[in-house]
Amino acid sequence: MDRAPTPPIDADLVSKLCLACGLCCAGALFTHVTLSAEEVARLRALGVRVRKKRNGAVVLPLGCSALEGARCSVYDGRPAGCRAFVCEVGRALEGRALTLEAALAEVREAQRLIEAVAAELPAGVEHQGASPLQVAQRHGLVNGPGPLRAAQAYLRGHFLEPRAAP
Ligand code: SF4
Ligand code: SF4
Repeated sequence: MDRAPTPPIDADLVSKLCLACGLCCAGALFTHVTLSAEEVARLRALGVRVRKKRNGAVVLPLGCSALEGARCSVYDGRPAGCRAFVCEVGRALEGRALTLEAALAEVREAQRLIEAVAAELPAGVEHQGASPLQVAQRHGLVNGPGPLRAAQAYLRGHFLEPRAAP
């Protein structure tokens, strides 16, 4: 008997996931995106906040000021680093190791863990658009085997480290 034809991959699946997530743009996974000189000029013209590092390099700091909810407000002008990145939840979805529902559940769990970190930050701590994880780390506010470690472990294990094939 012939194997049933493989159904085509829905090209919009990862887009649907990302539009319900935005965690990478919000700075939950990385602190910044590296930029070319042309991208720096383009983002400045678009009114997107960029930052000069001590070594002189100008980068896109995360959370990104172009993020509106979970949507990129400069999508057509976003830099190459943004275009190229797909987290491991997205890759698992693309490779059908996860259903959209399962991938969304992982995003919701990550959001829950990040909110738990945010809830531990004292009032008045300066965020400047950064993820609560970055703020907690920067100020050494959440130590030990608490919410920060739990959130970091979950994000690393689900969003950054390639998962074994099912
Ligand atoms: S963290 Fe992954 S799922 Fe979320 S917006 Fe970024 S690439 Fe998409
Ligand atoms: S430019 Fe757009 S895709 Fe890139 S980090 Fe900002 S919001 Fe995300």
